[in-house]
Amino acid sequence: MRILLTNDDGIYARGINTLYEYLKKLGKVYVVAPERERSAAGHGITVHKPLRANAVVLNNDKDLCAWAVSGTPADCVKLALEALLPGPPDLVVSGINWGANVGTDVLYSGTVSAAVEGTIAGLKSMAVSLDVRCSEPNFAAAGEYILELVETYLEMDIPPETLLNVNIPDVPQGEIRGVTATRIAKRRFIDAVEKRKDPRGKSYFWLSGRIDEQELPGTDSYALGENLISISPVQLDLTNYQVIDQIQDHWNIKT
Ligand code: MN
Repeated sequence: MRILLTNDDGIYARGINTLYEYLKKLGKVYVVAPERERSAAGHGITVHKPLRANAVVLNNDKDLCAWAVSGTPADCVKLALEALLPGPPDLVVSGINWGANVGTDVLYSGTVSAAVEGTIAGLKSMAVSLDVRCSEPNFAAAGEYILELVETYLEMDIPPETLLNVNIPDVPQGEIRGVTATRIAKRRFIDAVEKRKDPRGKSYFWLSGRIDEQELPGTDSYALGENLISISPVQLDLTNYQVIDQIQDHWNIKT
């Protein structure tokens, strides 16, 4: 069993180091992750400058093959699959991210994008995030759950072009009420741009804002509020098939 482990919080983040300790129980784990935090990098890739992959020692584990990459999470998966690993992995896992990735986060998230890249390559892929609610998140408890989820996932026959986006509530172990399949919530950030002045009087902007969402049962964000582990099946095909017909009708396109 060969597993590729990556993230967007950077190779030295607690989430990825904790997850390595659990996943190594299943087989040989290769860690290929950004050399620094690349959260909200989305699915960006680096095409205008060179990429470096430096071998590093993690967790004082000399058996661990780990590379710190100068690019994005999607770059990491591309490099891992085409240049660094001795062969294709059986599974790509991205995380454990510091913070939930629900609703539209799925599009901005580097954690999810790394799993998307694995899916594009035809591999079983899973993104895992911890819905951190305090300054001392319990990554170890999340790691135990993820190990169980991964074992089940490996046995499952999931359609191609589909990845699993997993979010885990950061509550004491006994307070997690179970696992539920969810759809991605509709949410957006409002008042997202804050305008400020620098010490020289020049304007700059900071993206922040607050979440605008009608929390609906069945969604990933709602599940977290219920202290449930949320698993959303995410597919690569973003096409709205109904609108294909509408476009054909309205523009009278000759085919
Ligand atoms: Mn992150």
